[in-house]
Amino acid sequence: MSDQYDVIVIGGGPAGYHAAIRAAQLGLKTACIDAGLGKDGKAALGGTCLRVGCIPSKALLDSSKQFHNLLHSFGDHGISVGNAKIDVKAMVARKDKIVRQFTGGVALLFKGNKITSYFGTGKLLKGRQVEVSAADGTKQTIAATNVIIATGSAPIELPFAKFDNKLILDNAGALDVDAVPKRLGVIGAGVIGLELGSVWRRLGAEVTVLEALPDFLGIADRDVAKVAAREFAKQGLAIKLGAKVSKAEIKGGTVEVTFADAKGEQKIVVDKLLVAVGRRAFTEGVLGDGTGVKVDARGRIDVDDHCWTGVEGVWAVGDCVRGAMLAHKGFEEGMAVAELIAGKAGHVNYDTIPWVIYTEPEIAWAGKTEEELKAAGIPYKTGSFPFAAVGRAVAMNETAGQVKVIAHAETDRILGVHMVGPGVSELIAEAVVAMEFHGSAEDLARIVHAHPTLSEAVHEAALSVDKRAIHKAN
Ligand code: NAD
Repeated sequence: MSDQYDVIVIGGGPAGYHAAIRAAQLGLKTACIDAGLGKDGKAALGGTCLRVGCIPSKALLDSSKQFHNLLHSFGDHGISVGNAKIDVKAMVARKDKIVRQFTGGVALLFKGNKITSYFGTGKLLKGRQVEVSAADGTKQTIAATNVIIATGSAPIELPFAKFDNKLILDNAGALDVDAVPKRLGVIGAGVIGLELGSVWRRLGAEVTVLEALPDFLGIADRDVAKVAAREFAKQGLAIKLGAKVSKAEIKGGTVEVTFADAKGEQKIVVDKLLVAVGRRAFTEGVLGDGTGVKVDARGRIDVDDHCWTGVEGVWAVGDCVRGAMLAHKGFEEGMAVAELIAGKAGHVNYDTIPWVIYTEPEIAWAGKTEEELKAAGIPYKTGSFPFAAVGRAVAMNETAGQVKVIAHAETDRILGVHMVGPGVSELIAEAVVAMEFHGSAEDLARIVHAHPTLSEAVHEAALSVDKRAIHKAN
């Protein structure tokens, strides 16, 4: 007789562990299967986000920002230091400690919520049975009334640039370099390429980013992308657009990368090459024969708006299903499914999911861009406000960027908010709340914002929608 649960979650990453904890909170007998390993080779919950994604990359972003400020910004504050040095091994060790704290924290939360943890890979079988294969080859079968698949995603590999995580790196490899590479090549000017390219640039590497598309940061608002491109260029990130990479050859401990852009075929030689050309849903080996669960052409598990696969009691959430590959989108799906299973009204509002790119300056947005509204024929008006006119930003010496509010031309309802500048990863939350409550630009304009704070940029941008910003000509 196999162990029987109310809920089995396959995958202990962000989507999976949120699903498991919420299910357990709701009184459901819950198990979670995860195969993740820490750097020490021991089981580590938390998936890509905690082990090799969101958390460790932010640790390095912050360390590199401190070092960069020490070299380039402290002088403006009248602070000088001689002989500044960076100990990359110590920086990476700090990052590893943070990772251990968080992966261990999830294990404690599982214990506290009485969730049974299985270490190994899970495979859904017919009849909501799940086979767990441990690293030592032993197998066992467990069963549940509901199974939630949360197996996440994996980096896309280019056929001519296979990851070895010594010279050709994926996101995990780029977090574990033990000395600043003199020359770093990056394929892909997306979220990972820009975040990790910035880290190593701030630490002194010469960074060249090769992006296949002709437009920079095509998913973002055009004004935001323009400011970001200007600031990254000032920081010395060399971003080449319309660059089609055809070869990456390892030669004498370096990588020779061949690409073609508007200037014709060119080669660059780098000491490390980060390949960040997107991620794919990870579903290999997860679905046994005859389960009835379907995958789409991109290998993602087919689900409806409520993350249901169409097979009784089988759900899927996070990066392995349609939608943005964002940890917080996965969290919310996981919790919503647990609530639906418990007979409650779980729901995710996909229209207000915030995006954040943790570069310097930071980039954040929620809702529609002007381009999307134009394409949909929706009439809109905009208001924007620069951080250069915000007292707090000037006092902080971080004046690059702006906030833009887009509202419906007739109803004034906020349709999108786009930010680039200091602290916008936090400021975007206000826009999300306003949009979640169907707020108007007038609502934001009437809300009292503390002075002097960065949030005044949001207030003034909202005022500017109606051409009544105070600290700029309208
Ligand atoms: P991405 O989709 O953000 O960017 C990939 C970039 O690579 C695109 O600009 C694409 O045009 C380009 N590209 C694709 N093939 C190429 C080629 N052969 N040559 C040159 N350029 C090429 O993907 P990513 O940066 O790898 O990130 C993966 C996923 O992880 C994304 O879905 C992202 O949302 C998520 N992520 C999010 C965050 C965050 O929210 N801050 C951080 C890291 C990762």
